[in-house]
Amino acid sequence: MDIQTCPRRMHEMGPWSREEGQDKWLDSPRRQGEVTPYCSFCGSLHPGKFLELVAKGWAVGPTDKNYKAYLHQVVNGPMRTGIPGQRLPEVEQFTRAKFYFQHLSDAQQIQFIDLYNEGSMHFAMPGHFYVMPFFMRLASSPERPDEGS
Ligand SMILES: [Zn+2]
Repeated sequence: MDIQTCPRRMHEMGPWSREEGQDKWLDSPRRQGEVTPYCSFCGSLHPGKFLELVAKGWAVGPTDKNYKAYLHQVVNGPMRTGIPGQRLPEVEQFTRAKFYFQHLSDAQQIQFIDLYNEGSMHFAMPGHFYVMPFFMRLASSPERPDEGS
């Protein structure tokens, strides 16, 4: 198990120690279908795994927090459920993990932005971010010109 330091331990208010090297990446799923490894401190999926699965076409599930997203596996159907006569809808999404953007390094933030800008990133409902991740800003709003005050 890899020792790591959760960025949330270091940068958020809380009654915990701010020493390095106290956290781990855990491999035992907490519920059926969860992808791992996840942070022993905050529960976030590993950032490398998150980026790998987003690049593979898994859907980013927006939240109302600028530091949190879900990750959904998208299964194209129709597919059999194992119950006679019952089939899943055309597209089914399964929540497989939560992710806290604080876990992205600077280079990984750029990878995520590149995936977003390529237009190939899949989103779960409603199909876009409610609030952008804290390290992202839409480029469409031009800088306000300095009025020379
Ligand atoms: Zn963490």
